Amino acid sequence: VKAAPFRYHAPRTTADALDILAAGDGDTKVLAGGQSLVPILAMRLGRFDHLVDLNRVPELVGIDSVEGALRVGAMTSQATVERSVQVARDVPLLHRATPFIGHFQIRNRGTVGGSIAHADPASEYPAVAVALGARIELRGPASVRWVDAADFFVGTWTTAAEPDEIVTAVLFPVRSPRSGAAVEELARRHGDFAVAGTTCAVAVDDDGRINTAAIALFGVGSTPVRARAAEAALVGSVGGTDLRDAAQLAVADLDPPSDLHAPGSYRRKVAAVLVARALDRALTEARQETP
Ligand SMILES: Cc1cc2nc3c(=O)[nH]c(=O)nc-3n(C[C@H](O)[C@H](O)[C@H](O)COP(=O)(O)OP(=O)(O)OC[C@H]3O[C@@H](n4cnc5c(N)ncnc54)[C@H](O)[C@@H]3O)c2cc1C
Repeated sequence: VKAAPFRYHAPRTTADALDILAAGDGDTKVLAGGQSLVPILAMRLGRFDHLVDLNRVPELVGIDSVEGALRVGAMTSQATVERSVQVARDVPLLHRATPFIGHFQIRNRGTVGGSIAHADPASEYPAVAVALGARIELRGPASVRWVDAADFFVGTWTTAAEPDEIVTAVLFPVRSPRSGAAVEELARRHGDFAVAGTTCAVAVDDDGRINTAAIALFGVGSTPVRARAAEAALVGSVGGTDLRDAAQLAVADLDPPSDLHAPGSYRRKVAAVLVARALDRALTEARQETP
């Protein structure tokens, strides 16, 4: 459990970090909180010639309000998100997903950008990003671009980011009025990656009927899965059996993987229960807000 030798770089600006990536001198990898990358290196599941540590780049840290969204800098720790009153108020789904990530020691080091860039299919943040229609800000050697979360996650640990790009921030849309949000997951032990899970948000009309729904599942495929048919079916619904029907619709096309934690058929069954539960909680919350 010792990493293969690498050259360590500690740039002070994003531009300097990008220059090192662009140099193309062997395999180069960005280091954020190290909560996924360090075990990979230590177990020699991967080896790189250069590591570019982003922990001394202050411009990558921070949470700001920008035109209907919260812009969360890539190097903002998960613990900062967990403690943020602004995140709790403006993007409650992101806030509520955070305590499900590992243990607080992991969240102290782990970053928002690291979780998004690592793209583990059982991770909470990618599912939050997909459910809310977040945009991933990527900076490359010559330009900045924004990729919709729906297009960013392309497979297990694989994203649309180019090797010479850095995730600099994630833009999460601010919640709409009369909305509720809930995260439900099943893990074998507290702090483990989820066997299956879901992030849901709904908004209601003045009469309490659902007018928009957002559902993404995680741990059930190679990327987070947005349940668009279920979302559409929920529009106009008042809850009750509609939620359970929508939950069945959300898992109808899933073919989750089987592994030593659970067979795919179990993941699918559990996912339906979790979606129904999360929708119920989100709807109850949305209705509690007075118009
Ligand atoms: C015991 C344990 C339990 C865990 N449980 C969970 C869990 O339940 N849910 C969960 O979601 N996660 C869990 N994690 C992972 C944790 O959330 C990590 O923090 C996260 O996956 C990676 O974030 P990081 O900042 O540590 O990134 P790192 O480990 O430093 O990097 C991960 C990968 O992302 C790349 N990367 C990082 N930042 C950027 C960037 N800004 N731009 C481009 N590429 C970048 C790196 O090059 C690397 O390939 C767990 C980890 C441990 C050790």
